[in-house]
Amino acid sequence: MFLAAGLAGPVQEVPCTLESGESTTCLRIARKSVPSDHAQGPWCPKSVHDGPEAGGIWPEAGTAHDVTGEFIANLATFYGDSAWALHNEDGTINVTDTAEACAAAARPDVDPALHNHCVECLPTYLARDTVVETLIPKLPTRAKSPSPIRSNIGLALNGVEFAAPAPTHAILAAHTLAPFDDCGGHINMHDGYHYHAVTSGCLTSIAQDDAHAPMIGYALDGYPIHARAGHDGAEPTDLDECRGHMDDTRGYHYHVAGPGKNQTLDCFTGEIVQGAARRPPGPPPGQPPRE
Ligand SMILES: [Zn+2]
Ligand SMILES: [Zn+2]
Repeated sequence: MFLAAGLAGPVQEVPCTLESGESTTCLRIARKSVPSDHAQGPWCPKSVHDGPEAGGIWPEAGTAHDVTGEFIANLATFYGDSAWALHNEDGTINVTDTAEACAAAARPDVDPALHNHCVECLPTYLARDTVVETLIPKLPTRAKSPSPIRSNIGLALNGVEFAAPAPTHAILAAHTLAPFDDCGGHINMHDGYHYHAVTSGCLTSIAQDDAHAPMIGYALDGYPIHARAGHDGAEPTDLDECRGHMDDTRGYHYHVAGPGKNQTLDCFTGEIVQGAARRPPGPPPGQPPRE
């Protein structure tokens, strides 16, 4: 069900324990966190004259904005804060350009020298052999009550994670942007490439025999994740608080939110594996990473 190119080995069935304490069987997915089915980036335009093809997207108030040179140049107006100035008099844009700078810009206490930067971490900054293991229940178990999203939300079929929302309040407080690419993902040095948004036309998807939205991945509770809208372009009207619903063909499943929301699902309806909501391998003490 996952694309082999995104995995470091076959999916294995292993015993596991759910947050409820119940023992069950899980799928252990060893993933490369590199999308094998689409390109990564671009994230930050380099000049105020660059168009939408040179940058990614940025979510604000429910809308995914194209991060063009003009968008960057207009940030002081956009956010009503004259301290914004990611661009210089000659039209160039301040962009993090080393692994060290991208890592430093991702800390909560952003180095003042990196304020007013567009932050991007390039694939070349990452170790090539990074493998992350994720456990997902083989058969979902409905929980007594929904549980909140605390870290990862699930996996796309290419093995890349749907991450918790990017902490845009902290990012914006440092007058930085950390755009997602046009496929809704970006890189941090701890997690590699991950999604904060689902855009159309990027992800490998499994078409349905009816007009229902295609399947694009699995949530950490094992329930399938589908695209936001079906053939009619509208999202279902009966989604629950987690963005899931039930139908006779598919049983319970989720539909992701639009790309401007910075949050693909709102909670888990099913039980997740104990510890799955914590982020492996964890940041150095005192340096929690931002998403
Ligand atoms: Zn549905
Ligand atoms: Zn992120």
